[in-house]
Amino acid sequence: MRISRISAWQKTLPLRKPYWLSGGRLKFEALDSTILRIDTDEGLSGWGEGCPWGHSYLPAFGGGIRAALEILAPALIGRDPRDIDSLNRTMDVALPGHLYAKSPLDLALWDLLGRAAGLPLYTLFGGAEGECVALSSSISTGTPEEMVALVESARNRGYRTHSAKIGGEDAALDIARIEAIEAARRPDEQITYDANRAWTPALAIEVMNGAAARGWFEQPCETLDQCLQVRRSTRQPIMLDECLHSFQDHLEAWRARACEGVKVKPNRVGGLTKARRLRDFGVSVGWRLHIEEVGGTVLADTAALHLALSTPAENRLASWLCHPHLTEDGAPGQGARNSDGAAVLPEAPGIGVVPDPDWLSEPLVSYERPGP
Ligand code: MG
Repeated sequence: MRISRISAWQKTLPLRKPYWLSGGRLKFEALDSTILRIDTDEGLSGWGEGCPWGHSYLPAFGGGIRAALEILAPALIGRDPRDIDSLNRTMDVALPGHLYAKSPLDLALWDLLGRAAGLPLYTLFGGAEGECVALSSSISTGTPEEMVALVESARNRGYRTHSAKIGGEDAALDIARIEAIEAARRPDEQITYDANRAWTPALAIEVMNGAAARGWFEQPCETLDQCLQVRRSTRQPIMLDECLHSFQDHLEAWRARACEGVKVKPNRVGGLTKARRLRDFGVSVGWRLHIEEVGGTVLADTAALHLALSTPAENRLASWLCHPHLTEDGAPGQGARNSDGAAVLPEAPGIGVVPDPDWLSEPLVSYERPGP
C-alpha cells in the first residue's frame, strides 16, 4: 500500500462565545483548522486534523501547518502509510521541530492503519480501559460570580471535572475566584485551576498558599524552572501543560520532580505517535494525565480520546472536548460526544470519524504522486 495523494482543507471554526485565558490577556473568537486526507493506491483513506488554539496560545498557528505541508507531503507520498514510526522519522529529518504541523499527518496515518487493520485506535494503543472517558468542562476567566455560574451550567450538562481558567496580576481576585468556586463545589467534583502561565512565581506562591483550595493547579508560570520554584513552595499537586513539547521536556520535568501530572495533547507534541510515547512514559513514572486535543472539530477530539480510553484508569484524568465550543459541526452525529459528562468512542476502524463532504467543500490543496 502506497500513499498516492494528500489533500488539505482550511476551515475557520468560530467559537460560540469569546474565550478568555491567562487572566484575560488572551482572547479567542475563532480557530483556524486544517483537515487532511491521505489517500492510497489501494483505495483506503485516512483523516487527520491540526488546529492550534488560535496563534497566541502556543508557538503554533494554522497557516504554519499548511506551509509545512509543502515540505512534508512530498516526503510521504509513495511510502507505505502503515510504517508510522518510520514516516515520523522521515518527517523529523525533512523538517526538524514544527511538531504541531506534523500532527495532522500523523493522525491521518493512524486512521489509515486502523482502517487497514479493521480496528479502532484505542485497540491499537493498548486496548480500552473501561467503557467511556470522563469529560472535563473548561470555565473561561471571569468574575467569581460568572465563573461559579459557568461551573453550574457545566454541572447541568453532566460534567464533574472542571478546568477553571484563572491567573493575572491581582492575587486577591484570583483567591476570590478560587474560594467562590470551592464554596460551590459539590463533593463529587474535581476542579483544576489553570493559570495558563500567567503568574510570576511570587504571585503563584501567594495565591496557592493563600487560597483554601483542594486539587490541582495547572501551568502556574511560563517556564519549567519557574513552575519548579512554585512546586517547591506550595502543597497542591501541579499539572504542566504549555511548557512541555518534546520527550526531553517531559524527562526534565520528571527528573526535577516539577509536577504530579501533565496534559498530553497530540497537536502540541507532534501527533498520536509521540503522544503515545509520552502517555506510556507518564504511566511508567506514576503521573496522572489529561489526554485531549489542543483544539479542532470532533475529528481531532475523537483521535485524542482513543489514546485517553487506552490509558489505565488510575493514571487517567478527565478529557476536554473542543467541538462543543464551536458553532459548526464538521461530522454531525459522529465521534466522541458528551453524554452526561462522559464520551463513548466509536468502534469503527481507525478514528471512526469522516468529515461531512458538504461541510468540507473543495480542498485548498492536493499533493499527488508524480506520474511514471
Ligand atoms: Mg492548560
